[in-house]
Amino acid sequence: MLKKRILFVMPFLFVAVSVSFISAVRLEAAVELARDGETRAVIVHNGHTSRSSTRYSYANIDFLDELQDYFKRITGAELEAVETLEAAGERPAIVFELVEGLTQAGEGDTGRQAYHILSENNRIYLRAQNDLALSHAVFGLLEDHMGCRFYRPDFEIIPDSPTLVMEDIDDFQEPSFANRGLLYALHRGSLIVNNRGIGLRAFPPSGDMRMHHNLYGVIPPDELFEDYPDIYAMRPDGERRPDNWNMSLCGTSEELPRLLAERIDDAVRIGGIHSLGQGDGFAPCHCKDCRAVAYQEESEAAPYICL
Ligand SMILES: [Zn+2]
Repeated sequence: MLKKRILFVMPFLFVAVSVSFISAVRLEAAVELARDGETRAVIVHNGHTSRSSTRYSYANIDFLDELQDYFKRITGAELEAVETLEAAGERPAIVFELVEGLTQAGEGDTGRQAYHILSENNRIYLRAQNDLALSHAVFGLLEDHMGCRFYRPDFEIIPDSPTLVMEDIDDFQEPSFANRGLLYALHRGSLIVNNRGIGLRAFPPSGDMRMHHNLYGVIPPDELFEDYPDIYAMRPDGERRPDNWNMSLCGTSEELPRLLAERIDDAVRIGGIHSLGQGDGFAPCHCKDCRAVAYQEESEAAPYICL
């Protein structure tokens, strides 16, 4: 998750008496990138076109190509790339810039991934301290300001906007977590990259976090079934049994949250647990209360989520 820091607070009275001034500023800051499917702008890459697999990222990402590709899908227009501002001339431009420091950025691995998108004098500057953060800025521009949504590699929402005008942007972002790679298997594709995931450290993609199908390791039936049979899922025949049935639980059991909390707390204290995951597979609990919650919420995940 990325958090946004509000940079300016405009006093209400100032807003009330200065509408015309603010409008003028916004007009100046707005940047027209395309009109009626024809490009109006260029990208100035300053030599920064990709993030490498050796420094900050687990994979090579050509973020210049990505921006050009998505821009064409949004507007129908080709977005030319040039190396320098001089080459851009008077044309509006999206400008990639690596900078020595970002004044708002925090310390450590989250600060190193911060970026600042700022529109100024017919330019949209993407400023960051390294190519990983610059890649995040590109996808931040696409998602937060152009309206793209990257739900799955094969399911993205790309706006249809032959005319694309960016209003004034002053968007500083720094991730709340240094590593956001905890998506099993999905870290290998565009989904996690486009959503500004992975982070630091990038090897392995989930850093020090781990995940397991380990519910029954935390609350083993051979230890607990005799005293707490109702925490385990009811089978279709109305019985609960201690054998492994996709590690299914009764999400509406009153004892289950307390037992889980106690055991997770104990495990964390001795450093023996780093994750808690449901069974590999799924079998719904057939008890009356779980059926009612699943029906009410229209999801078999509901009894676990409401746990
Ligand atoms: Zn149940």
